[in-house]
Amino acid sequence: EQAFFYRDTWVEVNLDCIAANVSAVRARLPQGVAIIGVVKANAYGHGDYQIAKAALDAGASMLAVAFMDEALSLRGKGISAPILVLGATRPEDVNIATAENLTLTVFEPEWIEKAKEHLDSNETLFLHVKVDTGMGRIGVRSIEELSKIEMMIESDPRLMFDGIFTHFATADELEDSYFHEQLVRFEAMVASLRSRPACIHSSNSAAALRYGEANFNAIRLGIVMYGLSPSPEIKPELPIPLKEAFSLHSKLTQVKRVNKGEKISYGGTYETTEEEWIGTIPVGYADGWIRKLQGQEVLVNGVRSPIVGRICMDQCMVKLPYQVPVGTVVTLIGEQQGSIVPIDEIASKLETINYEVPCLIASRVPRLYK
Ligand code: PLP
Repeated sequence: EQAFFYRDTWVEVNLDCIAANVSAVRARLPQGVAIIGVVKANAYGHGDYQIAKAALDAGASMLAVAFMDEALSLRGKGISAPILVLGATRPEDVNIATAENLTLTVFEPEWIEKAKEHLDSNETLFLHVKVDTGMGRIGVRSIEELSKIEMMIESDPRLMFDGIFTHFATADELEDSYFHEQLVRFEAMVASLRSRPACIHSSNSAAALRYGEANFNAIRLGIVMYGLSPSPEIKPELPIPLKEAFSLHSKLTQVKRVNKGEKISYGGTYETTEEEWIGTIPVGYADGWIRKLQGQEVLVNGVRSPIVGRICMDQCMVKLPYQVPVGTVVTLIGEQQGSIVPIDEIASKLETINYEVPCLIASRVPRLYK
């Protein structure tokens, strides 16, 4: 069901694109390799429930989130598929995970000690062990530590050793020596186990599409599911077409003819150089459309038109190509009448990565699905 809203700024998420991206990845993977759909951070700003459902329908069999709160949000919306919490969870909260059938990540023997104190005898806690092979974030760093964790899990019937995984730091770079170092370390860690868990996974989107040898029996698919390239440098070599699902739109709330030499917005940083048509749209930095985007082009009737003057908290101004009526749709991200402003263009203007762009668009901007 679509949310009703009163403001004329909205995100459109095309779920057919999500389905197409997941299916294209699915078609390239061997049968025995599962897809874990990464839907942390409200599915990279796209909407957790809708993306989870689309991903599961298109061939994902498990989901991954960063925090237990995100997993609980999905359970609350009716998602019953297995969910892995990738980040750290407080050991005193493990009974929430068992009650909601969530799989937690463990990366320290001390955590298991504490977690055990909070588990009843009839509870079963599913665990994936995180190995740090070179990301330096969270994870077990030695075979000794891994063996200790394995023993602790196997000696307690309430604990289920369901998976082991690692995360690559450079799978999206053309230079691949560090990636191979990490893979070799992970293989050694897995080989040291007395018994292998059901689920062994290491690949993010970039590794999944570039290095079949890192598949093991599951991949964690994030950015490619949303139709974005893991990095600009590997974009030309990606083996599947990516369909960008996220677009951002607004509507002109005022259109005016302004004389030459008039100032627009705070600080008067923009001055009209001729008689100009200026339009106002109700989107600003509180929506994540931050001040650094001053000068960025948006689409009006398919024509690229620059944002002029400083971006305000809730509004900004556009230099229109010609007079257009109030209510005309302005596309800030995405396609309009054959023209397109891709997310990568906004990322480059913001001097950041495409991952950040949909995450930045604030929750006060409603998400609509088609
Ligand atoms: N696995 C882990 C542990 C992650 O932190 C992330 C996201 O950053 C992913 C998988 C998904 O990566 P990507 O979006 O590049 O596919």
